[in-house]
Amino acid sequence: MAGIYLHIPFCKQACYYCNFHFSTSRAQQPALIKQMLREITIQKDYLKGQSVSSIYLGGGTPSLLTESDLRLLMEELYTHFGIEADAEITLEANPDDLIPAKLKELSAAGINRLSIGIQSFHEQDLLWMHRAHNSTQALTCIQDAQQAGFRNISIDLIYGGPTLTDPGWEQNVQQAIDLEVTHLSCYALTVEPGTALDQFIRKKKMAPVDNDKAARHFEQLMQWTTAAGFDHYEISNFGKPGWHSRHNSSYWQGKPYLGLGPSAHSFNRISRQWNVANNATYIKALEKGVVPFEKEELTPTMMLNEYIMTSLRTAAGCNLSNIQELFGPDKSQALLMNAARFIEKGWIRQEQDILVLTREGRLFADGIASDLFF
Ligand code: SF4
Repeated sequence: MAGIYLHIPFCKQACYYCNFHFSTSRAQQPALIKQMLREITIQKDYLKGQSVSSIYLGGGTPSLLTESDLRLLMEELYTHFGIEADAEITLEANPDDLIPAKLKELSAAGINRLSIGIQSFHEQDLLWMHRAHNSTQALTCIQDAQQAGFRNISIDLIYGGPTLTDPGWEQNVQQAIDLEVTHLSCYALTVEPGTALDQFIRKKKMAPVDNDKAARHFEQLMQWTTAAGFDHYEISNFGKPGWHSRHNSSYWQGKPYLGLGPSAHSFNRISRQWNVANNATYIKALEKGVVPFEKEELTPTMMLNEYIMTSLRTAAGCNLSNIQELFGPDKSQALLMNAARFIEKGWIRQEQDILVLTREGRLFADGIASDLFF
């Protein structure tokens, strides 16, 4: 089983914290979609022999796709890939785009899961983030999506920001629970180099991010979502049983995927490649029939480190038997020895041959994983 990711690199406006690849100029959108259709045909053998169990349209803002562009992209995918009848087909959407007519279009195009960039239900947070939507749209888009028949709805929320108070965070999570969304992706506000937020903080126009607040919000989030019946199945992801993201889970399980569009990454278990993160360069290359990407072959050490990083972030944990089988007994023994200090600290729990982060350990997931790298 494999997945397909399409990157739609356009947004209405730039959120201050965002470092994804996108353009706020939509002038190139028709030309770029035309070339993405061409890339689909060129890359049709990348997943040869494998059925596709998930498609994910991310970005950028895929809810800016016109009805005909979305239909053409989906038709082209179905023409060239073996897409399973019950494939999970997710589209990332911004609340201001999700009016009832748009929701109808998305459903008709075969989208069966929405990942909505809510970020907060509070006006002051949305203004501070420079989001294109307001708090009313944050609420009504979810209700409208449910009315339109979407049950598989994930929402993104950001915590730890300067305008988000502790009661405000509780209201955000409670609102999501009350709305009966089936999946939450929650991220601590991070300051990525080169973003507007980074500039503002450097110029002292904004206060630096309060890491203690972010840690507090994360701990509260774990308590509230567990009490509400969500599985905390990956550091940033919480799903009701039966509603975990199939597409994202396949990344964490090391399954192959093809990425289409500027900046999209692909992985086939042997190598990783990534398309150029520039719309004009992407269009020009594809006009000549060339997919512009860079590629790296994965060494056994790179694969092992990647397995440690991704598996430790999941509730399934890091399986020492798998490591022994794939990378040799010396590696699994060395990893266990290395992990002993985290087990002593109470940050990792060993359950037979599985290493799992404890609730406290989840606060330091990336740091622990990189300390365990070979
Ligand atoms: S809408 Fe999403 S991709 Fe676009 S700028 Fe905002 S966070 Fe980034």
